[in-house]
Amino acid sequence: MKTETIAIHSGNIIKSATGDVTPAISLSTTFLRNENGDYPGGHIYSRVSNPNRNALETVLTALEKGADACAFSSGNTAGMAMFQALTPGSHIIAPDDMYWGFKKQLQTLFKDILTIDFVDLTAISQIEGFIQSNTVMIWTETPSNPLLKITDISAIAAICKKHSIMLACDNTFASPCLQNPIELGADVVMHSTTKYIGGHSDVLGGALITAKKDAFWEKIKNIQQVGGAVSSPFDCFLLLRSIKTLPYRMRGHSANGMALAVYLENHPQVEAVYYPGLPSHPQHEIAKKQMSDYGGMLSILVKGGNEETKKVVNKVQLFAQATSLGGVESLIEHRASVEGPDSKTPKNLLRISVGLEHIDDLIADMKQALANL
Ligand SMILES: *Cc1c(COP(=O)(O)O)cnc(C)c1O
Repeated sequence: MKTETIAIHSGNIIKSATGDVTPAISLSTTFLRNENGDYPGGHIYSRVSNPNRNALETVLTALEKGADACAFSSGNTAGMAMFQALTPGSHIIAPDDMYWGFKKQLQTLFKDILTIDFVDLTAISQIEGFIQSNTVMIWTETPSNPLLKITDISAIAAICKKHSIMLACDNTFASPCLQNPIELGADVVMHSTTKYIGGHSDVLGGALITAKKDAFWEKIKNIQQVGGAVSSPFDCFLLLRSIKTLPYRMRGHSANGMALAVYLENHPQVEAVYYPGLPSHPQHEIAKKQMSDYGGMLSILVKGGNEETKKVVNKVQLFAQATSLGGVESLIEHRASVEGPDSKTPKNLLRISVGLEHIDDLIADMKQALANL
């Protein structure tokens, strides 16, 4: 089946007793046993499993072409499960521009447990130099935040294979509709389902999808079920509902993203545009090879400095000034002020999550915001 069909039908289990065409929300925390002590419904207790979470995990597995999935209460807890599952004393290699929440986890929660090298993963030839005898995992994130750097997943998978290291990929910016890291050699894919998968800025969630059900995956499942940071039945229901339109939303985000990137690249007030779909992007060829389209995330450098950049943010009408991404509504954000004083993000950088409004309206809004700075 093709992606659009999987998104609508996979995990959409219909109860014949009521004839509902879409799944009900199973709020029950506990499930009946029969005379033999078995659980005829297949569920015992909702931290361990629940019909809505099973459905969400089923469709995520299918979309990412994996073997199994675990849904968590946030992207951060999904990522944290990966770090918790590693043997203490292990070394991992992570991108120098890793999602800041994970960088913070590694530098605070795991600082006495794991050792980490933050590396420029676009410099493929230098990666092997960081591998040590206790290196167990390379973590990638592509496209990355906020410069939209593209990492060559197959090239890193080859290095991982050679050294028997696990490869994990944060696929949040691409979504499973634009990029499938497992097909490119990744062992585990991570999503903040809060972003494109949820798509409406109204649900927090995360997920891991595995290429194979191995001993490491058993540890992940144990962390999910015993640790208990699971996605609630209502959140799973919302995510499952959102996934039905994900392939079409990603088409819209990608079309709008490309059109806005082209407009801004030709604007005299814009110094640079970072969008993997532009031929001027330094890793455009890699993006073309591993992504089916380029999504709705882009960053720009405004000509001038901090002052001009903040003016733009305050003049836009349709782009809401807020963090996060992947919703139907366009967002704009001054990253340096969010990341704080030790941020390396340029002061004139604006990150834009291009939504699904009409592109003519988005361009007109940018045009007026960039005029007379
Ligand atoms: C938002 C985000 C996360 C964290 O997810 P939450 O759902 O906010 O916990 C991880 N990685 C990337 C790339 C993200 O954008």
